[in-house]
Amino acid sequence: MLTLFPDMFTAVFGSSILKQAAEKGLISFQAIDFRLYSTNKHGKVDDYPYGGGAGMVLSVQPIFDAVEAVKEKAKTEPRVILLCPQGEQYTQKKAEDLAKEEHLIFLCGHYEGFDERVRAHLVTDEISIGDYVLTGGEIGAMVIADSVTRLLPGVLGNDESAVTDSYSTGLLEHPHYTRPAQFRGMDVPDVLLSGHHEKITEWRSEQSLKRTYLRRPDLLASYDLNKKEAKQLDHIKRDLDGK
Ligand code: SAM
Repeated sequence: MLTLFPDMFTAVFGSSILKQAAEKGLISFQAIDFRLYSTNKHGKVDDYPYGGGAGMVLSVQPIFDAVEAVKEKAKTEPRVILLCPQGEQYTQKKAEDLAKEEHLIFLCGHYEGFDERVRAHLVTDEISIGDYVLTGGEIGAMVIADSVTRLLPGVLGNDESAVTDSYSTGLLEHPHYTRPAQFRGMDVPDVLLSGHHEKITEWRSEQSLKRTYLRRPDLLASYDLNKKEAKQLDHIKRDLDGK
């Protein structure tokens, strides 16, 4: 993570599953202050924009030097990811793609962002975590690091849980319940208490389709329904829309 605020990463990388993954040696994170690479005697990393206007622009020199220094130590050619509200929108598919890589470098911008030459000549991927503007790229880098790390073999206690998660399957996941079976008049669906595995699997599949249909019908357009799911979806549509 090349950043001007390395401390921002301390809590996220030092807690929960990311911390355990690092302790198990499944991943290692490093937050590097790219100010250390500035050749300016005051450690300056930004400057006024050519052409005028509000805000400061992050200069090319510190970031080129920092990326080159990191690459020199890397065993494989790292992908260089620019956090950028103008980049491709981040998805689970992109997380799966990045999880195949040995080494990733994240460039966290601030102020008006980086000099355009960083984007044009240094980065391999430009990623946005949503259609809104953050003050800096650090939170986006943490979002990506977290979602990629949990896909790595051995990171989650039960590897299955990443496979059945929303988006991994192409649909939204079914609802979950745990004890107690009754709480203030709110009951857990009977089928989940039945111990009948086949019926539970069928219920979960139906719930997953129903949720996706109601909340994210766009996902169904690119999902390959099997025969059973196609039948379930027909029932769901008939029930909900009377079609
Ligand atoms: N002037 C830029 C623009 O309008 O496109 C916005 C710069 S923003 C204030 C500063 C930095 O925050 C960016 O360089 C980027 O690293 C990060 N950032 C802001 N919004 C982001 C988003 N939606 N996704 C990823 N990174 C973002």
